[in-house]
Amino acid sequence: MCLKDKIFAAGVVGCGGAGFPTHVKLAKKVEYLIINGAECEPLLRTDRYIMTNFADEIVSAAEAVRNEVGANLCVIALKQSYKEEISALQKSITAGGFSKTINLHFLETFYPAGDEHIIVREVTGRVIPPSGIPLDVGCVVLNAATMLCVHGAMKDEPFTDKFLTVTGEVNTPAVQKVPIGTLFSDCIEKAGGAKTDDYIIISGGPMMGKVITREQSHSEVVTKTTSGIIVLKKGGVIEKTNAMSIRQMLNRARSSCIQCNYCTQMCPRYLLGHPIEPHMIMRKTGLNGSLDGLLADRDIQNAVLCCECGVCEVYACPMGLQPRRINSVIKAALAEAGIKRGGDDGQKAESKMRDLRKIPTKRAAARAGVVDYYDFDIKELIVFEPTKAELLLSQHIGAPSVPVVRDGDKVAKGQTVAKCPDGKLGANLHASISGTVKIKEHSIVIESRG
Ligand code: SF4
Ligand code: SF4
Repeated sequence: MCLKDKIFAAGVVGCGGAGFPTHVKLAKKVEYLIINGAECEPLLRTDRYIMTNFADEIVSAAEAVRNEVGANLCVIALKQSYKEEISALQKSITAGGFSKTINLHFLETFYPAGDEHIIVREVTGRVIPPSGIPLDVGCVVLNAATMLCVHGAMKDEPFTDKFLTVTGEVNTPAVQKVPIGTLFSDCIEKAGGAKTDDYIIISGGPMMGKVITREQSHSEVVTKTTSGIIVLKKGGVIEKTNAMSIRQMLNRARSSCIQCNYCTQMCPRYLLGHPIEPHMIMRKTGLNGSLDGLLADRDIQNAVLCCECGVCEVYACPMGLQPRRINSVIKAALAEAGIKRGGDDGQKAESKMRDLRKIPTKRAAARAGVVDYYDFDIKELIVFEPTKAELLLSQHIGAPSVPVVRDGDKVAKGQTVAKCPDGKLGANLHASISGTVKIKEHSIVIESRG
């Protein structure tokens, strides 16, 4: 079996983003393979832990993938402040004899250094077109944690366990390695429990993550893309922003947007020359009071170019408005109406101010109200296995996986329990613990007891 087929068989999808099936990214020849080790979301330490402790695995998988995609060079891009990670990777590159084919690239400590468009620009100097992908400029970008899964796939080990950071208001902030399908509440308990009774949880990082309630943590499960669980006291900026309805956001845009343009001037995609201007979107949606009749408007359609990094609302806007969330609502409305962004790409020259407007990561953390947890020294690894795991059939980009087991079947950890439908974009799914299967509408539950 070739590497691509092994990666497909193992169910590997991108660990750092929306879960794009990794084998599909390796279908074309490219010039550069970029391994994304930026881990730019403040507070997360997952990729850093993996780069320090599994440097040999990452480097050996990187060389194998570089050969697969015919790249002249593989660049592992990480922050210059990641001293231990740099030292571990450099040692592995030298020991493996890969110095001619794998380089390290040192990024400044800014947010969002790990955005795919930004990292390609930083490493190669090339700008991906507004609606484009790294392949358009001869690159493939894979996350550092994904490379550990690729290394597993090289040894025919399926993707069953996930590394993630559990931090914030917990007694033992740590990196955890847990079976996919583990409850968030179990992860919090293994982190020594929450320090407060009144808390919210962010799945992912503080800038881009999804807010869930304490109650939801008893049903929310770890997926292949879960990078972090952050426990926060109630009442912070993130919770307040998240609680607003679209009607409230548009009313506030109408009454409070002073059209200062800061959201646009600080937008990392706008600074690359992409034609997204959040202040224009705020002006038009605020004046209109709804999205009715606006979806054909070019400025509004440009919302699809938003990567939802949150810089505009968490960092830039002096009025505490929500351009990112409004963009997200517009994107969903455009998708539902089947409207594609029309016309030419609209790429402009990159802003000369781009370097000056890079946001120091710690300052982003401060604006997000999470700076108290920024300097946590997270080095401990907690490994555990629950007695129950719920595997969502849709935890990647593409078609949901189709169960190949039935109610009552006994499965062993690593066994295939659902497959990517023939000819579709998707991923296989494997038992993350051994036990008895129960099929639900959107998931497969495995219980090791009873
Ligand atoms: S930064 Fe805030 S106030 Fe200024 S234009 Fe953007 S949304 Fe309006
Ligand atoms: S979230 Fe805001 S700053 Fe980030 S890409 Fe979208 S519009 Fe730009």
